[in-house]
Amino acid sequence: MSRVLDGKWVRDQIQEQWKPRAASLSRQAGLAVVLVGNDPASQIYVRNKEQACQAMGIYSEKITPPDTITTDELLAIIHSLNQREEIDGILVQMPLPKQVDSRAVLLAIRPDKDVDGFHPINVGNLVANIPGPRPCTPSGIIELLKIYEIPMAGKHAVVIGRSDIVGKPMALLLLHENATVTVCHSKTPDLPAECRRADILVAAIGRPAFVTRDFIKPGATVVDVGINRLATPEEQAAIFGENKPRTVIGDVHPVQVVDAAGAYTPVPGGVGPLTIAMLMANTIKAAEAHTVGR
Ligand code: NAD
Repeated sequence: MSRVLDGKWVRDQIQEQWKPRAASLSRQAGLAVVLVGNDPASQIYVRNKEQACQAMGIYSEKITPPDTITTDELLAIIHSLNQREEIDGILVQMPLPKQVDSRAVLLAIRPDKDVDGFHPINVGNLVANIPGPRPCTPSGIIELLKIYEIPMAGKHAVVIGRSDIVGKPMALLLLHENATVTVCHSKTPDLPAECRRADILVAAIGRPAFVTRDFIKPGATVVDVGINRLATPEEQAAIFGENKPRTVIGDVHPVQVVDAAGAYTPVPGGVGPLTIAMLMANTIKAAEAHTVGR
């Protein structure tokens, strides 16, 4: 029987570890979240972030421009947040409307306030293993593997997906933990065979139940980053059976992983909670740097 890696429990551990650091700052840490437009999923994510800030004693501020905003108007908001001393972290909720130049917006965030770790300066720091904010989802996964004492050094890790947000930083963080890392993507031939070499398999693809039994080396640790929705009852029944319909599903087949893996993260309740916990940690770390000696 495989072990369930409980992301909510790990989130609680991370929050307990960081709360005293937030409390010992000379002023409250501050996070500004910019949410453009009315996308319902983004609104839920932002509400969860606000609640986490409250639980951690972090000041949070939500800026909600309309989805007709121009790049220049959004840049003006970022510039003003960059200058405000009580704001330690700036997060721009993606995706942005089509008329906005997302890259220009991300580049405008001061690297020391870039709590998502997406600014090229921080990407460079990650590549060179220089301290700096790390992207929240992959760094949360590293925390989870450490807390569950799953060895990474000398192990073979396979990451499916090469996005700037998850796949690439995940591969680099595993490399810095001395894993031997293979990055797979949509053009990788014989993906199941590559994945079967993995002691640690991370799936960040965005395709429901894509990773089936034949991708998994018996006993491997399987980390499922995917958050997908099954639209129809037929789709749900095909995966979960008639009696257990569920709409949210990861990239890993939720039934087959139980028999094949040694340990795995469930969806929901696996990787999802870690992302916000690491956002809180990044914000507190930024506040520590901004308040040192003050
Ligand atoms: P993305 O669309 O930017 O990247 C997907 C990657 O998967 C690409 O690199 C692509 O090459 C690869 N891919 C696509 N089809 C493939 C195939 N058939 N075979 C092999 N590789 C394939 O997505 P993303 O932003 O990296 O997110 C991936 C998933 O993780 C999504 O479901 C997203 O919702 C989820 N996500 C979850 C969290 C969280 O907090 N749990 C955070 C970020 C993303």
